[in-house]
Amino acid sequence: MATYTPRTLQLISVVFLATLIAACGVNPVTGERELRLISEQEEIKLGEENYQPTLQSQGGYYYLDPALNEYVNDVGQALAAESDRPDLPYEFKVLNSNVPNAWALPGGKIAINRGLLLELENEAQMAAVLGHEIVHSAARHGAQRMQRGMLVNIGMAGLGVGVLLSDNQYAPLILGGAALGAHLTMARYSRSQELEADLYGTRYMHAAGYDPSEAITLQEIFLRMSEGRRTDFLSGLFQSHPPSEERVQENQKTARRLGPEGRIGEEKYQQMIAGIREAKPAYDTFDDARRARRDKDLDKAMTLVEQALEKVPNEAAFLSFRGDLLKEKGEKKRAMDDYNAAVNLYPDMFSYTLSRGLLHRELENWAEAEADFKNSIDSVPTSLAYLGLGDAVAAQGRRDEARQHYQTAAQADNWAGQEARKRLEEMG
Ligand SMILES: [Zn+2]
Repeated sequence: MATYTPRTLQLISVVFLATLIAACGVNPVTGERELRLISEQEEIKLGEENYQPTLQSQGGYYYLDPALNEYVNDVGQALAAESDRPDLPYEFKVLNSNVPNAWALPGGKIAINRGLLLELENEAQMAAVLGHEIVHSAARHGAQRMQRGMLVNIGMAGLGVGVLLSDNQYAPLILGGAALGAHLTMARYSRSQELEADLYGTRYMHAAGYDPSEAITLQEIFLRMSEGRRTDFLSGLFQSHPPSEERVQENQKTARRLGPEGRIGEEKYQQMIAGIREAKPAYDTFDDARRARRDKDLDKAMTLVEQALEKVPNEAAFLSFRGDLLKEKGEKKRAMDDYNAAVNLYPDMFSYTLSRGLLHRELENWAEAEADFKNSIDSVPTSLAYLGLGDAVAAQGRRDEARQHYQTAAQADNWAGQEARKRLEEMG
């Protein structure tokens, strides 16, 4: 063990302090001094880079209801305008998932799941949820967790939960940087961050004209649900935002200070979510279909997904899933039709282009496979798409290019990475 003279120790502490002072900032929401190792530009970049991968690995954007998305975004933007950081590039999207959840990435990138919208009663409650998420983003809660290295262990420990939360079979293959968003959305906020998000979130909703007492009602609903231990909530919203009696009480104090006046917006809200309420049984059936597939009952999975498709024929997730089943049964032509339909409905979704690319690879349609893998990587990079891209360009005689793609895939610590390392060895 090294021993330091008092002089050396003094020097070390001076250097340490200087570093701290240089990295010190004022929290844009609370006004408190804080350590700032991640700059605002870095925060915004983090949010922008991780928004698509995080959305897509948890079910994707709910493209079937643009009006609902516009409504959620309008409410979110009105709240953000009242926030302490109105200039962040805020975005609010509805995520296509039954799991009741909402999350915020640094830099104002926010999502609320279809499944959570169905649990809320009115616009004011939705404003309470979105306001709370705005604070997590604006007050740099995610950035603070990253600074403290609190996310490091989530990388391993959170994986099981991630698979649960995820709607996507390829999610575990997402490459390094792009997988960060999933960790950020699953890590638990601290008690003080939760209280801070409630306090300022309620202020923003009040400033935007909503009745702050709905934030109390919402917290009461959540607390009851967490006591009932609804597993979908435990792996969703309550994993990252644990409800508590303390939060109910603090919200009561905040609402009393602000006064009860404001709108609730029940009729409009119910009108806007009517579509997802009607579609809910189809998504429940789809969840059953996925469970049947996991249990290796392909016939049952097929029957169920057909039922889901009868109710919502233009849901790309259903079509792509049926494509997977058909491919497993060896019906490649029909599988391709389903993948084509899914990609046409939601061209940006990395998993649909990846699935189709894999089928093209099997059929040795190399140019088509190459295009699909490239598009998939443009949306969300995965080790599997790089592996496939390597195969597709190698088959077209472009060995050096193939080697580069294999090298990228080989960095991943999963089966696709292992395959890529094998290919590189074979190439010599
Ligand atoms: Zn929270």
